[in-house]
Amino acid sequence: MNLAAPPGETCPEDHVVRPEEAIGITVLGATGSVGVSTLDVLGRHAGRFRIVALTANRNVERLYRQCLEYHPEYAVMNDAAAAQQLYDRLRPLGSGTQVLSGVEGLEWVASLPQADYVMAAIVGAAGLTPTLTAARTGKRVLLANKEALVMSGRLFMDEVRRSGAELLPIDSEHNALFQCMPTDFGAGLATAGVIRILLTGSGGPLRETPLAHLATVTPEQACAHPNWTMGRKISVDSATMMNKGLEVIEACWLFNAELAQVEVVIHPQSIIHSMVEYADGSVLAQLGNPDMRTPIAHALAWPRRMDSGVGFLDLCRIGRLDFLAPDLGRFPCLRLAFDAMAAGGTASAVLNAANEVAVQAFLQRRLRFTDIPRVIEATLEQVTVQEASSLQAVLASDAQARQLAGEQLWALGLET
Ligand code: NAD
Ligand code: MG
Repeated sequence: MNLAAPPGETCPEDHVVRPEEAIGITVLGATGSVGVSTLDVLGRHAGRFRIVALTANRNVERLYRQCLEYHPEYAVMNDAAAAQQLYDRLRPLGSGTQVLSGVEGLEWVASLPQADYVMAAIVGAAGLTPTLTAARTGKRVLLANKEALVMSGRLFMDEVRRSGAELLPIDSEHNALFQCMPTDFGAGLATAGVIRILLTGSGGPLRETPLAHLATVTPEQACAHPNWTMGRKISVDSATMMNKGLEVIEACWLFNAELAQVEVVIHPQSIIHSMVEYADGSVLAQLGNPDMRTPIAHALAWPRRMDSGVGFLDLCRIGRLDFLAPDLGRFPCLRLAFDAMAAGGTASAVLNAANEVAVQAFLQRRLRFTDIPRVIEATLEQVTVQEASSLQAVLASDAQARQLAGEQLWALGLET
């Protein structure tokens, strides 16, 4: 084939081959455990992705270093004083990164037209409005921030449908379920031939701790997860199994599943990340080493595949895979999450808010481990559940639950 154009003629524009345009990505929560894993995967595919924005709460040092390494167009710090410090450190270097602050800054970078993808990896309710903004503006939303979906389930899914956003789960279990689901699961699980979702969980670091010792568990013990290295809040949630409870709610919204279609299975090795059971008796599972870079790479490359940096699975070395039923007596938070989802409306937002307050108090050594479910249950008993009909209603329930949980904390604090 002669590639040279004949003299006097120019090739039509749509026949000119150019380098593929890099995909623009905003990483919300870049300094956290999922954020750092995301940057690791992105760094392996530098030409393919362009970092539009990196955000953090107040970790100036880490965001500063990430700005020097990844040269984002924008860096956002939720905390205004931290944003000023970051600006003061970047400016003398002639950095081209523009520094923004506050929730408005987070929402701004989640909605930028050049951000094709948004990694939603802020922890807790703080991630709700930036993540919702990404959904509203039709991004590919890589959802790690499960609390956003737990709080605002129907509203969030409605925004995704309305805007045509692509919602890809990063939570390893939901990413596994996504990989095992039929492509037409959106039409309803029964129509797609799915009978059950089997949501696996390791049972956390306290699965075998004698019940009598749970009251004196320290934050260090609760955060020492046997298989995953994660942020402190989700680590405590794993120890109480509230994480699995939040994930049950997350699965219902993501896959349009009834609560009765979701079963939790304890699988201590964390090799099977979850399973889908079909009408014909087939059960499809996704397996892999417990490393968040696998679901992150999956969601970045979907529907294709790309290298994540995760080592290959050595089943002979692992040797055995065990399964057990969860013990709701040991893990009352799991039961509370099922009950909140069954109650509907803003109950899940209340559950989430009370849990955040209790976990923070536990991490600050102001609350015993076994008092975490007590604070949540007492808060749920005191609130009147509303219809989760608007973002305002959800945020109002969140605020009310935080106040009530704070009062519970105070009352319990007097007891200890
Ligand atoms: P982390 O605590 O390590 O990081 C949290 C990130 O959010 C940080 O960048 C922090 O600066 C930012 N942040 C915190 N508060 C903020 C605020 N008020 N405003 C703006 N930014 C704020 O948490 P993580 O373990 O990376 O978890 C992040 C999310 O991903 C959570 O929702 C968690 O449930 C989910 N998740 C994490 C893992 C994991 O392996 N770590 C696995 C599955 C799901
Ligand atoms: Mg998970």
